[in-house]
Amino acid sequence: MVADVIIETPDTTTLVLFTGNDRLEYLAGHFLTIDPHQFESLERFISFLEDLKGKREPPRAYSMSSAPHERYLAVTVKEERYVSGTTKFPPLLSPLLVKRTLRGMRLIVTGFTGPYTLGPDVNAQTDHIVHVCAGSGSVPNFSMLKFALAHHPRLRHTFVYSNKTWDDVIFRDELGRLAAQHPDRVKVLHTLTREENHAVFGPAVRRGRLDQALLREAIPAPDECLVYVCGPGISKFDVAAAKASGAPPAPRFLESVLGDLKAIGVPDSRVKREFYG
Ligand SMILES: Cc1cc2nc3c(=O)[nH]c(=O)nc-3n(C[C@H](O)[C@H](O)[C@H](O)COP(=O)(O)OP(=O)(O)OC[C@H]3O[C@@H](n4cnc5c(N)ncnc54)[C@H](O)[C@@H]3O)c2cc1C
Repeated sequence: MVADVIIETPDTTTLVLFTGNDRLEYLAGHFLTIDPHQFESLERFISFLEDLKGKREPPRAYSMSSAPHERYLAVTVKEERYVSGTTKFPPLLSPLLVKRTLRGMRLIVTGFTGPYTLGPDVNAQTDHIVHVCAGSGSVPNFSMLKFALAHHPRLRHTFVYSNKTWDDVIFRDELGRLAAQHPDRVKVLHTLTREENHAVFGPAVRRGRLDQALLREAIPAPDECLVYVCGPGISKFDVAAAKASGAPPAPRFLESVLGDLKAIGVPDSRVKREFYG
């Protein structure tokens, strides 16, 4: 049952889920899935999309923004946009989860799974976790950060977070609070690509795209840290569209960060990644 609905940003909502007495065994970084067919209000839209696409609409994955030691389960969803001339189909599920889900509603969720987690040997591998995220890509990293602060006291974290504007930053206050509470263990570096208010910029809030210079600053010892990268990457739809046009698909956040990490000398074995299509 949806126990609470927290508006994080104009297009992002956290759904806090009450699951009765079920034991919730998940790892920070895991995701659950939500099948859009369970929502009666989507029935006609789904039939129409399935006719157009010629296939059944699959369940959508959502990472937990809660951490396993917290009382409630929570997911944080960013609404996908339909951009005329760019997006092939209107997004199906995220608009409903973000804008039309009310406290008291019941959802069927399936989980929990995913390889994007802190391994059991994380302390043997490093004392510095570098989170590199864009948009809703911060969701699993936020869960890992909260969990590690509570359960891995030896780990330090640098959280590098790219967004369009200051108002798009999900968990902005909470990240600030964690950095203030753990000054020796948490450093947050924001970078904003389209912010026009000069007043928001400062040492912890940079201007522009995430680049090698910022990553170098966040990663002083490239072969000693573990980097967790999460955000949008080239989707199978981008690949198909590129094939049709004859040009290679343009790199998105994930590909561009992976290239930059390689360029600054972070071994691939020290980079974990989660792709949000
Ligand atoms: C492991 C994982 C974890 C995730 N965690 C989160 C999270 O924590 N928070 C979050 O907000 N999101 C998360 N996502 C993304 C999420 O699963 C959904 O992809 C997102 O919410 C969009 O779903 P939608 O139904 O709104 O849009 P969709 O209906 O899936 O549409 C999304 C885009 O794909 C295009 N598209 C769809 N079908 C086709 C097709 N057949 N041909 C061409 N283009 C097509 C649409 O035009 C649109 O641009 C995660 C994804 C993964 C893989």
